[in-house]
Amino acid sequence: MSDGSGMRYASSRGLAAEVDFSDALLGGLAPDGGLYLPTEWPALTSAAPDSYPELAAAVMQPFVAGVIAPDDFAAMVADAYSTFSAPDVCPLVRLDDNHHLLELFHGPTLAFKDVALQLVGRLFDHELRRRDERVTIVGATSGDTGSAAMEAVRGSDRVDIVILFPAGRTSEVQRRQMTTLDDPNVHAVAVDGTFDDCQDLVKAMFADEPFRSRCGLSAVNSINWARVMAQIVYYVWAAQKLGRRDTPMTYCVPTGNFGNVFAGHVAHRMGLPVDRFIVASNTNDILTRLIDTGEMLADEVVPTLSPSMDIQISSNLERLLVELLDGNGPATAELLAGFREYGRAALTPQQHERLVSEFAGTRLDDTETLAVMRDVHERHGLLVDPHTAVGIGAAERLRRQGEAIVTLSTAHPAKFPDAVKRATGIHPELPAHLAGIFDREERMESLPNDLAAVEDYVDAVRR
Ligand SMILES: *Cc1c(COP(=O)(O)O)cnc(C)c1O
Repeated sequence: MSDGSGMRYASSRGLAAEVDFSDALLGGLAPDGGLYLPTEWPALTSAAPDSYPELAAAVMQPFVAGVIAPDDFAAMVADAYSTFSAPDVCPLVRLDDNHHLLELFHGPTLAFKDVALQLVGRLFDHELRRRDERVTIVGATSGDTGSAAMEAVRGSDRVDIVILFPAGRTSEVQRRQMTTLDDPNVHAVAVDGTFDDCQDLVKAMFADEPFRSRCGLSAVNSINWARVMAQIVYYVWAAQKLGRRDTPMTYCVPTGNFGNVFAGHVAHRMGLPVDRFIVASNTNDILTRLIDTGEMLADEVVPTLSPSMDIQISSNLERLLVELLDGNGPATAELLAGFREYGRAALTPQQHERLVSEFAGTRLDDTETLAVMRDVHERHGLLVDPHTAVGIGAAERLRRQGEAIVTLSTAHPAKFPDAVKRATGIHPELPAHLAGIFDREERMESLPNDLAAVEDYVDAVRR
């Protein structure tokens, strides 16, 4: 179905035609280089079903309206979350009366990316079948997105997927989760460069129009609207489970590309009561500095213990920037072009004020991260991964008297065994379904940070 009556999506840069959900899903990036945003924020469902899949279908339905029938959508959502090992899908764990962890890592690849990508894989299949099309998905990963995306589309005969990752900058578990899948439609590429280089290569492939249309290029990295959409749900879920659908809470989010915390902002815009969002960063702290000063100042990417946050240019920030710039797409494009060219861009005092009325931020370096991991283990008997630890440390540092905080726990500790061992002396065990990855043969291509080389490779492997 596609009856033209559903939600419309517009580019953050304001220079592309509006599209429906199907085109926003399969297109990824808008033709003008912008990111798709719905043209209105639907009100949050007042329903409070007991199960995560039911809540998820109710929260997201307005975004797919006119394209996917409610029953089909509910079935896809239920199927996506049946792959999670926790009955609650995203369970809450109490640290103290006012501080809870929301565990988002019970999916197939043990990182929060699965929450969105298990659904997005099914949405892709559904829409490609309906349109009788195929696509080549290209993506950049700093560690977790790649395996989650591959896991979401492996075995699909309508999708080929090529994932670029920065050579030597992911953990061994992260790399092996990508390189040990033997499905013929999944391909991992180690690029001699940083995550930002990988992301630039992906953007350049999309900007190469002949290549883009020849390959039927598509993206599932965090610029894809459907990913943000799926992440809105667990903010509502956490509030509901804690009996706070009507009372504001603070959400602390370990942040890299700003997709996760932006989804929280969307939940807020849809009517979820929110006190504030705490944007937790590692040493790569451009967001902390933006919140502190109102200025974005580019810096070198520094490798840390939390590689999925080793990012200086948070692509999803564009979605918030356009809002801070009162929906002015061309002005947003200009601000970002200036940032790309000069490595700096400044908000006006009014825009900065609006930013800090909703977002706070702080950074933890690796030493502080390890200290939090040790402390959480000593106080609560809980092993947490370095990304989650950055979140917990940021929440503890900024929390006010009586403030209720939910910190998003974004990865399973066993994805980062070396850091966990260093902090606590304990080697976290991988869940049974992943225990074999150290014995399996790895399959990957190594390529230079060079657009032509990467495009040739994609052309050679796609079916
Ligand atoms: C991707 C990721 C993040 C960062 O999320 P963004 O949506 O990119 O801000 C944090 N922690 C882990 C474990 C991740 O995989």
